[in-house]
Amino acid sequence: MHCPNCGARDVIQIQQKLPDETEVHFYSCHKCEEKWWDRDGKLVSLSEVLELARKQNS
Ligand SMILES: [Zn+2]
Repeated sequence: MHCPNCGARDVIQIQQKLPDETEVHFYSCHKCEEKWWDRDGKLVSLSEVLELARKQNS
């Protein structure tokens, strides 16, 4: 896995579960501090993750 922003391979990966039981992988780049999520192999932006989290509360 490498950073889509700067191409560095210094990326951490954390498995997370959203409130609606959706499993996502959270990635963070040490070099440029880019953060992104991956759900079912698809890139998910921060705003989309927040949207998923918010849906559960309504
Ligand atoms: Zn990066």
